[in-house]
Amino acid sequence: MSLNTQKIKDEILNTLNKRVLLCDGAMGTMLQSIGYTAASDLLNLDENARKDIIKIHLNYIAAGSEIIQTNTFGANFLKLKRSGNEKYLKLINKNAVNNVKEAINYFQEFSPNKETVKRIYIAGDIGPSGEMLKPFGNISYDEMANSFSAQAEVLIESGVDFILVETMMDLNEACAAVEGIKKLDREILIACTLTFNENGVTLMGNKAEDFGKVLIDAGCSIIGANCSVGSSSMIKITEKIRSANPDTLLIIQPNAGLPKIVNNKTIFDESPDLMAENFSHILKFNPSIIGGCCGSTPEHIKKISNLLKNDS
Ligand SMILES: [Zn+2]
Repeated sequence: MSLNTQKIKDEILNTLNKRVLLCDGAMGTMLQSIGYTAASDLLNLDENARKDIIKIHLNYIAAGSEIIQTNTFGANFLKLKRSGNEKYLKLINKNAVNNVKEAINYFQEFSPNKETVKRIYIAGDIGPSGEMLKPFGNISYDEMANSFSAQAEVLIESGVDFILVETMMDLNEACAAVEGIKKLDREILIACTLTFNENGVTLMGNKAEDFGKVLIDAGCSIIGANCSVGSSSMIKITEKIRSANPDTLLIIQPNAGLPKIVNNKTIFDESPDLMAENFSHILKFNPSIIGGCCGSTPEHIKKISNLLKNDS
């Protein structure tokens, strides 16, 4: 396991030394927009839904994404246990990796110039546990780490290129996730994002200025912010993270604005053009990986992809 993950890690870090990699956008809100109401992770168990998931991955690749996140945001042990679905942990995570592989294979097979077709990386996506660590909640640090470890083990065995721990509201939980992954495979590349409010503070009070060193010491190669705020507010948050971490690789994935209810539907208020415009400011802080979170679509990613082309 380690030899290969070390090789992929070096390859990704080498690429990031030269240029920005574009990640994909949202999966959950895309699935909701075509009528799915079940938890996104459980849809990996449904053959018809899997076809839609693969189609969404494919649309992101066609829009210019070079990193595709597995649809496994809530597929850690504790989160699944909450809904009584922990027995499906292995199948959900394995199917999710296979969904991305299918999309990549399909794209490469039907690409007109096979020689120049780009490498697409699979990010094994890990979201929060939905539980709180003691003393605020009932979960010990070890239980928390083991919950993420169980998910990461399946993701790594199934063939992800690296792990993205995202939308963490508690720096300690993020550290437990990183520790849980590291004990499986010391070499695998780990990126980790916390989710901040407009003032750059997480729900548990971690500040955008302070969290970076802790995550780097825990073993992350890439750190950053995602979700909660739109790309307009993410400019300031990126600035705060960058000024505290001048030499660190950053990953930035804002929402497409803030959610609004219109005609009983949740919509996000940043257009693809506005998001791309905001990213032109975010790029001044030299992020290494950029992409979208809730509400972002392949159209948003396409505009950001054009921005990167014009920028280089
Ligand atoms: Zn989000």
